[in-house]
Parts: sequence; C-alpha cells; structure tokens
Amino acid sequence: MPRQILEQNCIGCGTCESACPVDAIYKKDNVYQIDANECVDCQACQSICPEACTIGGPREFKELVTK
Ligand code: SF4
Ligand code: SF4
Repeated sequence: MPRQILEQNCIGCGTCESACPVDAIYKKDNVYQIDANECVDCQACQSICPEACTIGGPREFKELVTK
C-alpha cells in the first residue's frame, strides 16, 4: 500500500523528499505529494516527518481526517 501525505498537516519542509530512496515524493504548490506508482512503502518518510503526516493509505487517512 503506497503511503500518502496528509496535505492539511504538511508544512512543506521537504524533509521527506530527500529521505525517499525511490524519489517518489515531489512538491506540489506549498505541500508535498507521494507518487503512488513509485512508493515502495519503506516508511522512511513516516519516521522522518516532523508533523507525522505521511500515512499508510485510504483507511488511515479517513480515520485521521475525521478526528
Ligand atoms: S516531511 Fe512531512 S511536513 Fe515535511 S514536506 Fe514531508 S510530509 Fe510535509
Ligand atoms: S514510504 Fe518510502 S518509498 Fe514511499 S514515499 Fe515514503 S520514503 Fe518514499
């Protein structure tokens, strides 16, 4: 399951982009996005993000945005 970035939590610091081993993370406007076709779910971005906004998939996403 590719990870995705919770855009409303992203502060655009770019830390995750340099941590990704497959260059799946790119900047879009002022936040970052994960290319689902490239992500290998290594979780490097999850552990390094200061805002803990890279998440595991649609279900986790839904749980977070409804809190
Ligand atoms: S490390 Fe987190 S806060 Fe920083 S750009 Fe990546 S997703 Fe956004
Ligand atoms: S989980 Fe790994 S491969 Fe996927 S976007 Fe994050 S750092 Fe890149």
